[in-house]
Amino acid sequence: AQERQEFTFQAEIKQLLHLLSHSLYQSREIALRELISNASDALDKMRFVALTDGAQRDSGPLEITIEPDEAARRLVIRDTGVGMTREELVANLGTIAHSGSGEFLKNLSTEAKAKADLSLIGQFGVGFYSAFMIADKVQVRSRSYRDERGWEWESEGTGRFTVEAVEAPLPRGTEIILHLKEDAKDFAIPYRIKEIVRRYSSFIPHPIKLAPGDEVINDQKPIWVEPKRQVTEEQYDRFYQHLSHHTDEKPLWHLHVSVDSPIQFHAVLYSPPSNLEKYGFPRMEHGVSLCAKRVLVQNDCRELLPDYLRFLFGLVDSEDLPLNVSRETLQDNSVIRRIRGSLLKSIFDRLDQLAKDQPDAFQTFTDQFGTLLKEGAIVDAPQRDRLAKLIRFASSHKADGKLDVALDDYVGRMPEGQKRIYFLGGPDLAAIEKNPNLEVFRKRKLEVLYLVEPIDEFVMNALGSYGGKPLTSIDSDDLDLPDAPGDAESKVETPEDEKAEPGFARVLDLFREAIGGRVRDVRESHRLTDSPCCLVNADGALSTQMQRILKMANK
Ligand code: ADP
Ligand code: MG
Repeated sequence: AQERQEFTFQAEIKQLLHLLSHSLYQSREIALRELISNASDALDKMRFVALTDGAQRDSGPLEITIEPDEAARRLVIRDTGVGMTREELVANLGTIAHSGSGEFLKNLSTEAKAKADLSLIGQFGVGFYSAFMIADKVQVRSRSYRDERGWEWESEGTGRFTVEAVEAPLPRGTEIILHLKEDAKDFAIPYRIKEIVRRYSSFIPHPIKLAPGDEVINDQKPIWVEPKRQVTEEQYDRFYQHLSHHTDEKPLWHLHVSVDSPIQFHAVLYSPPSNLEKYGFPRMEHGVSLCAKRVLVQNDCRELLPDYLRFLFGLVDSEDLPLNVSRETLQDNSVIRRIRGSLLKSIFDRLDQLAKDQPDAFQTFTDQFGTLLKEGAIVDAPQRDRLAKLIRFASSHKADGKLDVALDDYVGRMPEGQKRIYFLGGPDLAAIEKNPNLEVFRKRKLEVLYLVEPIDEFVMNALGSYGGKPLTSIDSDDLDLPDAPGDAESKVETPEDEKAEPGFARVLDLFREAIGGRVRDVRESHRLTDSPCCLVNADGALSTQMQRILKMANK
């Protein structure tokens, strides 16, 4: 028999364990949720193996059993999934920290935050360790479908864990034995387990049985194949919580599509209520779960949606996909490509509808994810027109700095004769409002979009124009302002010096002498009302704010 071997947890995991073992009582329910979710993942993998590997066809029942023992203060979670080899136990449960874990920790560094955000643990690929929220000793006994013998992992959640061979034959799958903390003994009470499973794990697509009675305590109903009308809001919310690992959160909106041709698929997609990237969390790396004929083929599939929609949670299930579609071939798969196109259209339709029917909800959404839509408008040329309708800017119309003006709103307010959409960028609202180039626009009551987000400048560059109207920075040379009614002097720029008032030509000459080497030209202008002079950019040049941004980026 192989000796018991001792390992040290990877440094970040050690830190995480410390945090988890001191976690607050009310967040502890997520431990059960994470362990059940792992068992379910292992069952998904086994079902997949059974369907694709002839030698594994006879996989036996795929199920989860929860066995509480109140007297012994012990809880066992058992699954008949793929199991783990010795190497997998060592790597998955201790020595390899998933990429997100360091960032997760960084963001949990303050205690106040830790209380609030622990429930996100599942999203960062470290859900297993939540076992130490409720247990002071954890044993994992596992046998892989590829292995003859079973292995046992054990730890008290401090610095180390051990792995050794199990002499007695083990059934295929994994058994997590939790030795519950004194103050977590309620996790061994059957009604408490039922309550938690109903709350967090109702969408696990495998039976969850409560031993010893073998009562199935979840309902495993795939809501995405149901007709929309038959699914309640509560069911949608719960499914979101299941997919996102978010405990009490409600999605901002959901989208349920069922398409029969040319490709058959069902999909349920959700927008989370807040954008973690905005709060300094790492780039979101989750995606949509991909199923073929109800069988999960891949979690976090990134090929189904463009990168800028990476914040959406959801599931796509198609009858037209082969089970053996691999991660490598997904990108070239024509079924995936067509689902992706159809999904994208549905998402934009849904957002248009939200903007129209529930403007407040849409505003909440763009406040969180608007920057990502703008990212889309820059990178996704084929969808640019659709995205341009959905993005929002601040503007001089209300001048409150809120990003709630659509390009269509702006166009709707344009006076007759205005041929361009005007904008002005700056480091912040206050700086923008001080810009002397605004004077003529204020005087003429012409609206100017305020680009308060750095990405806005890039959006303007990418769009170039909207509805045939060029997007023009008001610090550019050629403004092409509409004729003001009854104003003979409506042309803002005076092209030739000859128009200058007598004696003014001399002033211009003096200016040219003084700063001539640093500007292309000095001209008389009617665009100012209060300020004596301003700088503008030559036709076709980048706006001043864009030059500033690029300069910063080059540093
Ligand atoms: P994640 O589930 O996001 O990968 P976890 O910390 O929850 O992160 O689990 C880490 C890994 O441990 C899993 O990816 C899986 O490979 C393995 N694992 C955990 N629980 C089980 C289980 N019950 N059966 C098989 N493998 C498991
Ligand atoms: Mg997990």
